[in-house]
Amino acid sequence: MSKTKSHTSSNPLNTMPDKKGYFGEYGGQIIPPDLIKIMNEINDAYDEIIQMESFQTELQMLYRDYVGRPSPIYLAKRLTASCGGARIFLKREDLNHTGAHKINHCLGEALLAKHMGKTKVLAETGAGQHGVALATACALVGIDCEIHMGEVDIEKEHPNVTKMKILGCTLVPVSRGTRTLKDAVDSAFEEYLKDPVNYLYAIGSVVGPHPFPKMVRDFQSIVGREAREQFLTRENKLPDLLVACVGGGSNSIGLFSAFLEDESVKMVGVEPAGKGLDTDDHAATMTLGVKGALHGFECYNLQDKDGNPLPVYSIASGLDYPAVGPQHCHLKDIKRVEYKAIDDDECLDAFMQLSRLEGIIPALESAHAVAYAMKVARIMSKEDTILVNLSGRGDKDADFVANVLSL
Ligand SMILES: *Cc1c(COP(=O)(O)O)cnc(C)c1O
Repeated sequence: MSKTKSHTSSNPLNTMPDKKGYFGEYGGQIIPPDLIKIMNEINDAYDEIIQMESFQTELQMLYRDYVGRPSPIYLAKRLTASCGGARIFLKREDLNHTGAHKINHCLGEALLAKHMGKTKVLAETGAGQHGVALATACALVGIDCEIHMGEVDIEKEHPNVTKMKILGCTLVPVSRGTRTLKDAVDSAFEEYLKDPVNYLYAIGSVVGPHPFPKMVRDFQSIVGREAREQFLTRENKLPDLLVACVGGGSNSIGLFSAFLEDESVKMVGVEPAGKGLDTDDHAATMTLGVKGALHGFECYNLQDKDGNPLPVYSIASGLDYPAVGPQHCHLKDIKRVEYKAIDDDECLDAFMQLSRLEGIIPALESAHAVAYAMKVARIMSKEDTILVNLSGRGDKDADFVANVLSL
């Protein structure tokens, strides 16, 4: 192989980004030169560490004994019967310790920070899901953790705030601007820039500058590798369709990554249509977004005519992000993955159906994927199979839904 040829040029799926972190025309490092240097150091450390047997052994042991992996795949028989078509299987990431897929990459990031000799892990959090998963991983690994959170969100997300405190992280309330996620990002990033050599900024999805989209994807790929093997063992064939919700895109790429070369397997990423695609209240980045740079990388995103990110909305706070990870953008362009939107009402209906037909209360984020699966199962044949990534459980959403539906 010629040395000048990038790793990806022979691989149309671009499962690895090129040296500069591009998946096709998306990704990269749209950041100041000083930071590019720091990001490249993280990339080099990561590439070295994932080759080390001791790192892999430790991570695999934690996935098994701490997270409870492998998470099962489960045939949702009553849900299937009520739709009357393709059989619907669930990959049960909701059964992980801390109740969602996020622990998979937070453990990886915390271990990486420790191995790199960093003194502190930093992040922002909106609803608190990323904050809790990261604080958990840092408590386990034994490294300082600092989470920035808007004051408005602190008031709204009380249970997660309490958990972060108990887990021993430093919670920094952010009082600037609208006192929400966007301001928390700015605040956490300012703190990070004070000492990027000794701190690690732990990004919460497959977004941000290279190498984060690659690293977080790799840490989440355990979901797809397990699911592919489990499904083959059980059914003697691959699923016909994979479905997963897309915020930044980590749980979906985690599932999809193991199947990209299986041509018979169709894949759909489900984004939030919120109150409707014809309103301003959605986060349907793939359906309505444009190409541009945001938060340090090239991607599809929702922006106004001056290039500023638009305010986004979803009933599922984990999905209201105005961009999507670069590998997804590439997979959309080459038509390997389709992206569809599900609105709040369809999401709530799926939330209740899965709860009452299967006794599984899903996260509102995951309920978007369930809703799409229910919709297409009806028009697929009984021989067909759908595998849904149930990215998290709905304990955090139960009071809210009961209130909205006046239960
Ligand atoms: C955060 C979150 C998501 C959205 O993030 P992705 O990076 O798109 O996976 C989805 N589901 C749950 C349960 C979450 O907590």
